[in-house]
Amino acid sequence: MKHWKRDLALLAVLLATGAPLYALSLADFALFHLLIGMFTTLAGGLIFTVSTLAQRFVRTAFLTQLGPGFLAASLVTFLHLAASPDIGILGEGGVDLGMQLWTIQSILLAVSIFLAVLVRRSKDGHGRRMLGYLSFAAVGSVLALTRVLPAFAQPGQGPLGIALTGFGVSFEYLIVFLYLCAMALLATWKRGADETMRQSMLGASVLFLLAEILYTFAADPTGFFGFGAHFVRLIGFALLFRSIVVEGIRKPYETVFAELNDLSATDGLTGLSNYRRFRERLGQLCEDAERTGKGLYLLVFDIDFFKAINDAHGHALGDRVLQEVARILRDCVRDTDVACRQGGDEFSVLLFDVPEAAAGGIVDRFRRAFAQPEVTDERIRLTVSGGAVRFGGGDPQALLVEADRLLYAAKNDGRNRIYLTRAEQGGETAAEALESA
Ligand code: GH3
Ligand code: MG
Repeated sequence: MKHWKRDLALLAVLLATGAPLYALSLADFALFHLLIGMFTTLAGGLIFTVSTLAQRFVRTAFLTQLGPGFLAASLVTFLHLAASPDIGILGEGGVDLGMQLWTIQSILLAVSIFLAVLVRRSKDGHGRRMLGYLSFAAVGSVLALTRVLPAFAQPGQGPLGIALTGFGVSFEYLIVFLYLCAMALLATWKRGADETMRQSMLGASVLFLLAEILYTFAADPTGFFGFGAHFVRLIGFALLFRSIVVEGIRKPYETVFAELNDLSATDGLTGLSNYRRFRERLGQLCEDAERTGKGLYLLVFDIDFFKAINDAHGHALGDRVLQEVARILRDCVRDTDVACRQGGDEFSVLLFDVPEAAAGGIVDRFRRAFAQPEVTDERIRLTVSGGAVRFGGGDPQALLVEADRLLYAAKNDGRNRIYLTRAEQGGETAAEALESA
């Protein structure tokens, strides 16, 4: 499913939960408040955990930037819950203390989103960032708990009879400003590898901003606006959490598996495909050739007297020769062809979509390419012998057997030649010799 479709599905699910949650908030606001608070605290903690664990594997620095801010915000949200009059374990702070703590965690979220957007390229300074956010949370909470800060709440409209004071509102302006800046930056970004995160951050910023506005104008925190503020924030958290799970867990896993798969199919010395990948691709290309009727050739070749090169110049130089042969091989093939090191000094190539008339020229091009003196160390002249077979349908294994047979024939007939034939199903083959010029 496309990313935006998944987001829409998520949004639909969340909106569907909106009605029962609103009913719950009307019936028992304290319970609703506790549930939402616990969810966002948990989500914030998980965002921190995932982002910290994933930072080694993720290219984008978004996650590493967000984690510490969300952890600090979660801790303050926890205090905000504890301070709610219904729980009241934090003394007689009342609604004002709750509002101060809420505002502090809102500032933490806004700052961490804004900074993550601003310095998204840098993964450094995780420890310092953590210290900064936690210190801010600690100082803010202590100021709120010791009632040092001027009041945020004042007598106002609504059943609870409270509203934000000018001092409280000034922080809301700051938060709104931070989200607007983050949104402006996010909106102007080029679509790139970070697109999933960019969309989620943009969506979350819009929702968090909306939550702040609802909260600021909520004369009655237990009424519709109060519910709206909490609910919209909940959706923002869910959105961020989902893409952080995707970015921080799913993508790193996919990358690791893809790399492992690639490694297990690659020859360590030359970087060519290894025999395992070769066998896989042989099967696939034989099927393609049978289906499309296009010409598929298997070319197997082996370096002549490679052992003598090793003996005379050392194993290390022998390795370099193998690497050089691999480089030339890569230059000779198209992207759709498969170049492979079978093992030792034996290589193979699967050439797809080759017309029969062109095969002789292509195969001889390979033989000549390795014979260029500048190809290897100037003391070494390199030649190869090989066999090339056109796939004629049937068992791919027969293709390998036939190519090997031709390779040994080329060796026996004096080396530096590649024999080319067409494999006929069950029939005789006629070999055409391409010898040294
Ligand atoms: P021929 O013309 O009959 O092929 O003669 P040759 O000396 O090339 O004989 P053969 O192909 O049987 O020898 C392969 C040699 O390749 C033997 C082995 O020491 C060497 N070899 C195999 N793998 C490596 C490697 O990874 N690095 C190096 N340097 N040498 C290797
Ligand atoms: Mg050899």
